[in-house]
Amino acid sequence: MSTAPGMLHGKVALVTGASSGIGAAAARVFAREGARLVLTARRAERLHDLAAALREDGAEVTHLAADVRDPAAARAVVALAVERFGRLDAAFNNAGYGTGRTPLHLMADEVYDAVVDTNLRGVWNFLRPEIAAMLTAGGGAIVNTSSTGGLVATPVAAPYVASKHAVIGLTKAAAAEYGAHGIRVNAIAPGITGTEMVTDWFAANPGVEEALHRATPQPRTARPEEVAEAAAWLCSDRSSFVTGATLAVDGGFTAL
Ligand code: NAP
Repeated sequence: MSTAPGMLHGKVALVTGASSGIGAAAARVFAREGARLVLTARRAERLHDLAAALREDGAEVTHLAADVRDPAAARAVVALAVERFGRLDAAFNNAGYGTGRTPLHLMADEVYDAVVDTNLRGVWNFLRPEIAAMLTAGGGAIVNTSSTGGLVATPVAAPYVASKHAVIGLTKAAAAEYGAHGIRVNAIAPGITGTEMVTDWFAANPGVEEALHRATPQPRTARPEEVAEAAAWLCSDRSSFVTGATLAVDGGFTAL
């Protein structure tokens, strides 16, 4: 058995959207790799239970419920990391929301607002205090969750596709501004991943999951842990010369 320290050993890492799916998997992977963690999402009870389970395994974890659409709440989560652990080294801005399945010209403005506020404004709200904290710490690594929908379009999901493309643009802009300050900023673009976000959609639309598998060189749904592993690597010093990049974790879906 290896006794080498994990790739996030000693790092202070923040994870948004940690109450389920990819974010909860990231909390587990980051903890296994030695990170000290600040977890956030809106569902406080889920954060509490996950943090308790990780502490039982020896991790240092704190959590704070927050809505990513609220900039003051985002600042409070970053401040908690600095108060509790003295610094912030890594952040996985992963919270996101997809809805609609309606043709663009019929979609309600409220749907656009909800999706863009969560997926784009939510990353923006966290990115700014995270960068401020990392400038103080002398560097850091940030990973933003985009989607294959940030690289290619899918029908009847225009606000989601637009918001996830914008996350990649914001990622590149931040990477360009802060590379010289030792802060790396990357994105991941998951393909279909088995989380709450897609299980209801699949249940309501028989055949959709199989059709997506047929369009994917690795013809299956990803496990949340497979996406979390990519985020952990990008948050770690092992990806030390990678910035402004978008890593597709999609079984080859966008390679076709
Ligand atoms: P999920 O299980 O539904 O998780 C979404 C997470 O985002 C939850 O923890 C949720 O927590 C949080 N969240 C949503 N709105 C929020 C808000 N306003 N404020 C704070 N937290 C909020 O789905 P997932 O698949 O893991 O999604 C994680 C990310 O992966 C998202 O950005 C999604 O767009 C992206 N993604 C997923 C897939 C996929 O196939 N699953 C594919 C491509 C990209 P609370 O509800 O507790 O707030």
